[in-house]
Amino acid sequence: MATGKLEYVRELERGNRLPNFNWIVVRIDGWHFHRFSEVHQFDKPNDARALNLMNSCAVSMLEKFPDIIFAYGDSDEYSFIWSEKTNFCERQESQILSQSVSFFTSVYVMKWGEFFPTQELTYPPAFDGRVICYPRVKLVRDYLKWRQADCHVNNQFNTCFWTLVKSGKKKSEAQKYLAGTQTAEKNQLLREFGIDYGALPAMFRKGSCVFRDKVEEGVKLDGGRKPGEETCRRVRVDYCDIIGKEFWDQHSEILVE
Ligand code: ATP
Ligand code: ATP
Ligand code: MG
Ligand code: MG
Ligand code: MG
Repeated sequence: MATGKLEYVRELERGNRLPNFNWIVVRIDGWHFHRFSEVHQFDKPNDARALNLMNSCAVSMLEKFPDIIFAYGDSDEYSFIWSEKTNFCERQESQILSQSVSFFTSVYVMKWGEFFPTQELTYPPAFDGRVICYPRVKLVRDYLKWRQADCHVNNQFNTCFWTLVKSGKKKSEAQKYLAGTQTAEKNQLLREFGIDYGALPAMFRKGSCVFRDKVEEGVKLDGGRKPGEETCRRVRVDYCDIIGKEFWDQHSEILVE
């Protein structure tokens, strides 16, 4: 049967072109990773193997999609900032979102054994994703500040929680003990257990940033590519403070109004 007569159903497909001149943020988050992390015996509160796996997947994302200009991640989530100029998939929301989530997920599965050589992957992990559009650099910066502040709050809480649990408290007791405590009290609690919060690994405290190295003028690039061509710039992971302005002053090429 010829398809001609049936093509009209395509008209029912809903397109959704994301607005031009907006930075596109795709945030993915592990589905039920509370359980996933228990089943796969993650160290608590922070399993460095799992964070490094997430970071490696994010690096693959920037290598695969040149229009992603920056990524930030912590715990089981990652935010990918797409250039405001991208015309990837004609800026169709469903395509950008589904390609981001499915590519990240399959890389996560492929690289599992590299980061967890002694822990079998016992069931297929899944990630959800959402898209947010921001028309101003300030909003993108504030978005990233928000995620890093969230990382800090969660990590400080989790560090206290697991310190109490490892010292013999029940989870419900630890939860109750910490309810309503302020930052200073949490730091005090950690000090009593001999933990200097500020000395914990930056990857745990600050989360991870993924971006491309600057191309210095006059540097010869591999493969004869011209400076400025995204694919020849090394993608790096760093645990930067993105709440203050220093990072953005030093990397002013990433987000340009
Ligand atoms: P949802 O499906 O709603 O996202 P979730 O169980 O994934 O539910 P989140 O709020 O996303 O809940 O929290 C992720 C949880 O995964 C954390 O609370 C933590 O228990 C666990 N987790 C994620 N990454 C790590 C890690 N690197 N080390 C230890 N635990 C982790
Ligand atoms: P796009 O990214 O736009 O979807 P595409 O290369 O995936 O591009 P499709 O129109 O989706 O293009 O077509 C899928 C192509 O994949 C087919 O044309 C065929 O070449 C190949 N293919 C898919 N499944 C099979 C299969 N089971 N056996 C052989 N070839 C296959
Ligand atoms: Mg979620
Ligand atoms: Mg989750
Ligand atoms: Mg999460």
